[in-house]
Amino acid sequence: MNSIKTALAAFFILFSTGLFAQETESKSEQREGGHINENKFRQLYQEFSTPNQYRTGSGAPGPAYYQNQADYKMDIELDDRNQRLTGRETITYHNNSPDVLEYLWVQLDQNIRTKESVAKLKDGNGIPPVAQPGNFVSEYMQDSFDGGFNITEVSANGKPLKTVINFTMMRVDLPKPLKAGESFTFDIAWWYNINNHITDRARSGYEHFPEDGNNAYVIAQFFPRMAVYNDVEGWQNMQFWGNGEFALPFGDYEVNITVPADHILDGTGELVNRKEVFTKEMMRRYEQAKKSYDKPVLIVTQEEAEAAEKGFSDKKKTWKLKANMVRDFAFATSRKFIWDMMAVKLDTKDVMAVSLYPKEGNPLWEDFSTKVVGHTLQSYSDHTFEYPYHKSISVHAKNQGMEYPMISWNYGRPNEDGTYSDRVKYGMMSVIIHEVGHNFFPMIVNSDERQWGWMDEGLDTFMQYVAEQEYGERYPEDIAPHTEYPSRRGEPARIVDYMKGDQKYIAPIMSNPENVYQLGNNAYGKPATALNILRETVMGRELFDHAFKTYAQRWMFKHPTPEDFFRTMEDASAVDLDWFWRGWFYTTDYVDIGVEDVKKYYVTDTPTKEGTALLQRYGVEDPSSLDVLYVVEEGSEEFDPNMKGKTPAENATTLNEYLMDNFTPQQRAEMKMPKYFYQVTFNKPGGLVMPIIVEYTYADGTSEKVTYPVQIWRKNDQQVSRALATDKEIVKIVVDPDLETADVDTSNNSWPQEAEVDKFQQFKEKTQG
Ligand SMILES: [Zn+2]
Repeated sequence: MNSIKTALAAFFILFSTGLFAQETESKSEQREGGHINENKFRQLYQEFSTPNQYRTGSGAPGPAYYQNQADYKMDIELDDRNQRLTGRETITYHNNSPDVLEYLWVQLDQNIRTKESVAKLKDGNGIPPVAQPGNFVSEYMQDSFDGGFNITEVSANGKPLKTVINFTMMRVDLPKPLKAGESFTFDIAWWYNINNHITDRARSGYEHFPEDGNNAYVIAQFFPRMAVYNDVEGWQNMQFWGNGEFALPFGDYEVNITVPADHILDGTGELVNRKEVFTKEMMRRYEQAKKSYDKPVLIVTQEEAEAAEKGFSDKKKTWKLKANMVRDFAFATSRKFIWDMMAVKLDTKDVMAVSLYPKEGNPLWEDFSTKVVGHTLQSYSDHTFEYPYHKSISVHAKNQGMEYPMISWNYGRPNEDGTYSDRVKYGMMSVIIHEVGHNFFPMIVNSDERQWGWMDEGLDTFMQYVAEQEYGERYPEDIAPHTEYPSRRGEPARIVDYMKGDQKYIAPIMSNPENVYQLGNNAYGKPATALNILRETVMGRELFDHAFKTYAQRWMFKHPTPEDFFRTMEDASAVDLDWFWRGWFYTTDYVDIGVEDVKKYYVTDTPTKEGTALLQRYGVEDPSSLDVLYVVEEGSEEFDPNMKGKTPAENATTLNEYLMDNFTPQQRAEMKMPKYFYQVTFNKPGGLVMPIIVEYTYADGTSEKVTYPVQIWRKNDQQVSRALATDKEIVKIVVDPDLETADVDTSNNSWPQEAEVDKFQQFKEKTQG
């Protein structure tokens, strides 16, 4: 090919990409140079680990995937007079890894509460300007609580094992190395003082009720627990500092718990000696509850609970629980507990929704708790996998919101006279949805909470939002008003204040929970919002829901990493999301997209200065020799007011001749004949790339919504222009009219500026209170 033809070919390729191709060309020229690839659409090869036989590039477990298992047999006794727990366990640890293990790591989470715990010395923020009374008292006015595990024995076959305790981790040296495929059985005995979870804040403990002298116990992290060993971390023996929660292997549990005979107890697993611990009347009610799908049946009534709390039995009763394939174990016990249950229909089976609460929770708890548990199991099951356990319990514990397999602690206490605000009611419903939802993430989709707080909190808060929005659909109007559920997190506009905040106090989502400034926004709010935006705006519900379900099902009863999630979401949807993960999860950038300017053009075949200059750059000496069209901006020097109101064929003879030569009269009659040609320029002060959602309003009052895919930013990260041909005049342009993208500044979202409506401000005003 000779040079003039090459130049013309290049020119026509450019020209054919858009009416105003010369703009794009000159901008991309300016951006050349620089060798570091910072394109926001580049793949995450450098950030992700290389796929392997354990974890594939598709995000699914690989052919060599393995996980170790820890089985527990425990005898536990609660001393209610002294708030002390004594236990003995036999752990059988199965090494399913291909590696030889020389030692095991056991987690001693209670050690965060020893008198000399270094966790109390970890913060360097000085004296806080504002403090909650509880924190103030425990920090400055009380001797610190004498907690922590007292390990009295670690042995195998009666012979002591060598151990080393390092803060919240205990190394157990094995008598001989544990080979691939082998198991090791050993015993641990211990006791510890149980903390008051109101005054010594923690994820478990007891609440004391001075009026009747009773305690309500919500007990977890109560036994030495095996750490996770896997292909990603080796031993996950990062210390428990308080924020990063837990990493635990699956296993089978047999737990016998001895408590005062007048206590009511429930916990993880199947109650295997129900007939020994239930009265005949409780058995009768239990059978009734198994057939009650629309309302809970009381197993222990308020009257019975109030009678029990007047006594204090020194007799004992042992509750025996058995659970298979759980990653942890927790229980609640008190003589104050009211107990109700109902059956919940899932696709292929019934499960039980259960609540335990002292009278202080009523009337709120008897009205809502168990129903909300049931709704949560149904909603999450629809979006992930059918809930595999046989029950889920919601226990009322003041100030608590904490999850364990099949059981959770939840706040939401009415005033003393039984009244409560909507805020308390919806707060209680939301925390129940959230904590019961944690059964799915991370109790079953067993991610590493110690390292990645967002993997369980973010996914669960996202699903919580979905379940909240679906809540009204399942219940009659009097129980669940079919107005919009006031979700605290999930709506894009609700994350704006955080994302546009002081960058000094924001960390990427891909951070360890110990290292972030605002755990709630970082691990809960932002990832939940990101996933909601992914579902509603980027992928659409059909593609998102399938991919999300694929992730949940692939990693059900397994240990996923962030990459397994990121990769699966792409693998199951054919949507390239590397740009989204990179921006939303690996940076602290925010969304801000605006309309920069709008230009109106007319078509002509009279050569323009700009057009001629472009042609000359490509070697066309005499532009008049070419049959090409030019555009002229309204109001510019070359603009002729006579062009207004005419069709392009009327303004440009070249175009008219082309139409006459190449189309039949009927084809010409069916052709569109746009009168207006616009160039709309969008700018992006924010660092995140996002699809541009635009609402165009025309002079006749009609409007149209167009979404430009995120790829529009792939060659120019700051500013892009779109050509629009229309037979109606545009009078208004609004970017992100429905506040779908968490755009932090809507003051630049409208054209013309005077038509600007601050929708975000309106949203804030509407939802205040
Ligand atoms: Zn949570």
